[in-house]
Amino acid sequence: MSYDKVEVPEDGEKVTVEDGELQVPGNPVIPIIHGDGIGQDVGPAAQQVLQKAAEATGRDPKWMRVYAGQSARDRYGEDVNLPDETVEAIREHRVAIKGPLTTPVGAGYRSLNVALRQTLDLYANVRPTYYLDGVPSPMKAPEEMDMVTFRENTEDVYAGIEWEAGTEEVEKVREFVEDEMDFDGVMHEGPIGLGLKPISEKGSKRLVREAIDYAIENDRDKVTLVHKGNIMKFTEGQFGTWGMEVADEEYPDDEVFAAPDSLWEEQDEVDIPEDAVMVEERLADAMLQWMQLRTDEFDVLAMPNLNGDYLSDAAGAQIGGLGIAPGANFGENRCLAEPVHGSAPKRAGQDMANPTALILSGRLLFEYLGWDDTGTLIRDAVEETISSGKVTYDLERQIEGAEKLGTSEYADEICETIEELA
Ligand code: NAP
Repeated sequence: MSYDKVEVPEDGEKVTVEDGELQVPGNPVIPIIHGDGIGQDVGPAAQQVLQKAAEATGRDPKWMRVYAGQSARDRYGEDVNLPDETVEAIREHRVAIKGPLTTPVGAGYRSLNVALRQTLDLYANVRPTYYLDGVPSPMKAPEEMDMVTFRENTEDVYAGIEWEAGTEEVEKVREFVEDEMDFDGVMHEGPIGLGLKPISEKGSKRLVREAIDYAIENDRDKVTLVHKGNIMKFTEGQFGTWGMEVADEEYPDDEVFAAPDSLWEEQDEVDIPEDAVMVEERLADAMLQWMQLRTDEFDVLAMPNLNGDYLSDAAGAQIGGLGIAPGANFGENRCLAEPVHGSAPKRAGQDMANPTALILSGRLLFEYLGWDDTGTLIRDAVEETISSGKVTYDLERQIEGAEKLGTSEYADEICETIEELA
């Protein structure tokens, strides 16, 4: 593919796939979107830290700046939010990293984040939530948090099938539901907005499979399917049923144990084969309290899109907030890393936002490339910097005696720590 408004690093090579396996050169081209709002601060800071850690472990990533959101409008024209070149660069190079992108509320264009995940079929949004030494937390025992959430990324109410109040379309849908489908529940008179919530067998099963495989590969004990199937029986409930089918039918019992009746019965007494991963179901509302009250009982969580969005933010708060919560989207031999947080417009352009979440998202990307030692170095350097009390405003306001650094000063500090540790 030839690019018009994007510079392709000439000295980099592409990540490719051969016989289903990722082939990673030492100098991979990695597309990067710095992002909207605080993306202009945390994007360059994270890139600097990632480059430093990669070099310190003998790698040489070649960053390819691509554009979305405001930076795309500036470069391509006022009505271009997500240029084809950006989507194609990520598709072609298989791995990429992005900062946050703003989505207007109520009107305007649809989420660019959701568009990227759907267009590239990045079906699993994975968010590891773990405690870093020195980070302030509202919890008594934040170190008990070590969960990985797998959020379905392509369907549910995020599919974007909705109709605006007052339009001809919404009235057509209302008529269809009331007259042809004989719906006799509550739909109030007057203007109404309507939406559809697709949950498919394909989307549910591949997500749960991904979560179970992760649990097996990473020696985790349990996968919890989190849904609201008591109310939304044929969507959320079906997600749970399909998920349990994967656990029950696709793995040997001594490897994966599908816990029967886990929605209503405690599993303490259940006889589970030694070393098997247990797969259970929990209702989403109750899960939000258990996550806080019985944190250490949960391990890997798999859930539909909206639940995953809420639960992973809440989990992030338990270990110190959105400024440090990383994530990545995965598809078939593809990875697009991105932090959990958004563009925090009121903090934008002030060199104050915390780049840790984006840096740790880069760690996930590097580990996907097989650069585990680079990932460990990043984590150690971040942890050591925070433990020394040198932090950005969001953590400084919670730690007595801490030194408040700007985004760029904090990134410099981590780079120095990388030099010391390497
Ligand atoms: P947000 O951008 O995540 O920010 C909410 C608050 O979280 C901020 O005001 C700030 O709290 C704190 N925060 C977030 N990131 C931080 C960081 N790196 N360092 C320090 N503090 C941080 O959520 P939002 O305000 O609801 O959303 C703003 C925009 O972002 C919306 O357009 C939304 O659609 C978009 N968004 C994008 C993504 C994405 O790109 N994947 C994800 C979520 C939201 P304090 O005010 O307390 O300092």
